[in-house]
Amino acid sequence: MAPLTEQHLPADALEAEPRHNWAREEVEALFALPFADLTFAAQTAHRKNFDANEVQFSQLCSIKTGGCPEDCGYCNQSSKFDTGLPASKLMEVQKVIDEAARAKEGGATRFCMGAAWREPKDRDMATVEAMVRGVKALGMETCMTLGMLSTEQTERLGDAGLDYYNHNIDTSPEYYDQVITTRTFQDRLDTLARVREAGINVCSGGIVGMGEADSDRAGMLMALANLPEHPQSVPINALMPTTGTPLGSSDALNPIEFVRMIAVARIMMPKSVVRLSAGRENMSDEMQALCFLAGANSIFVGDKLLTTANPGKDHDEALMERLGIRSMPAHANPSEKPSRGSDGRVQAAE
Ligand code: SF4
Repeated sequence: MAPLTEQHLPADALEAEPRHNWAREEVEALFALPFADLTFAAQTAHRKNFDANEVQFSQLCSIKTGGCPEDCGYCNQSSKFDTGLPASKLMEVQKVIDEAARAKEGGATRFCMGAAWREPKDRDMATVEAMVRGVKALGMETCMTLGMLSTEQTERLGDAGLDYYNHNIDTSPEYYDQVITTRTFQDRLDTLARVREAGINVCSGGIVGMGEADSDRAGMLMALANLPEHPQSVPINALMPTTGTPLGSSDALNPIEFVRMIAVARIMMPKSVVRLSAGRENMSDEMQALCFLAGANSIFVGDKLLTTANPGKDHDEALMERLGIRSMPAHANPSEKPSRGSDGRVQAAE
């Protein structure tokens, strides 16, 4: 009898090298696999590239909250919707560094700084660069999400030593304008190309549970996996419906469908860190364990994401202990580009 993977998996689904030519039928065939076959294949791909008992811990800090001119239908920070979230100014550099130091003490190895902007203003660049340098000096991986970037802004962030830039594609190209109208899918791809070309690691994923069809979930993963390089970090978010946003009364997501999404992402982008992101607050411990088995190997820690709740430190520590999961050290992602110092130079491997 043929081994299970050969018997049930689409041809080439477990290639040793990452592929960039996924066809829709192949991706839909992965989604349609029996659950045990799919999670087995995902776990196989996972173990080929990672220590299956390590998870990367990131902490997110909102360095500038609310008042965003974009109209992302899931977001409580858009100025277009009445969500009651007050807008704030850009945080002071030292406060951000202090917060990062606390995150490090709490076990985070990556510090992600998010600003609710369509794009940064040039006058803010020196401040965000100082944040990157200060957090980097703590020995943490740095990540920022600031909206669209020009080529010059991208290069400035790279020169400051930024490790990752987060810019989610959110959903499939076909469903994109049902969720956001103030920018296009192509705008997103253009910023991702600038980030890639500047030598910064890409963090890009999307959201499940926004009323998309199954074909949109396949389309989103194809759009990510068929980029010239796989994003080194792929956050998969479960929608957290927020009152006042257009998607505020969306139906709850089926947990098994979410685990399938994680598993297919793991198979298609085998060397990328797949992050279990927003929505973890609403997931049972058992569902999170299934996500880890399906290949998720990164989470956000801390009580808050940008503006929404997250399971607290004590709960996470207890869950990781019960599952025997250890923290992935900084810069252990096998697909990560060589780290740059705050002088912008590539650092020698330790
Ligand atoms: S997701 Fe980001 S870009 Fe979209 S409205 Fe929220 S803060 Fe603005």
